[in-house]
Amino acid sequence: MDELVGPRLYSCYKCRNHVCLHDDIISKAFQGRHGRAFLISLAMNIAVGPKEDRNLMTGLNTVADISCADCSEVLGWKYERA
Ligand SMILES: [Zn+2]
Repeated sequence: MDELVGPRLYSCYKCRNHVCLHDDIISKAFQGRHGRAFLISLAMNIAVGPKEDRNLMTGLNTVADISCADCSEVLGWKYERA
């Protein structure tokens, strides 16, 4: 994802699909399997993967991978339950 689309919109870095708003990003500090991952609370135009328990900095959380609905690139994670 990059920040160049607009002041508050993030887009898929591959296909420019708009995927979430700046305010919905909880953290950019997470490290995913494919590099830097975003943790977001709400997103659009995405596909949500299977729920999975992961030990994050905030403790054990249920998260799901989110990927772009257009190109299927994994973009980050989404909290399923805090
Ligand atoms: Zn995409």
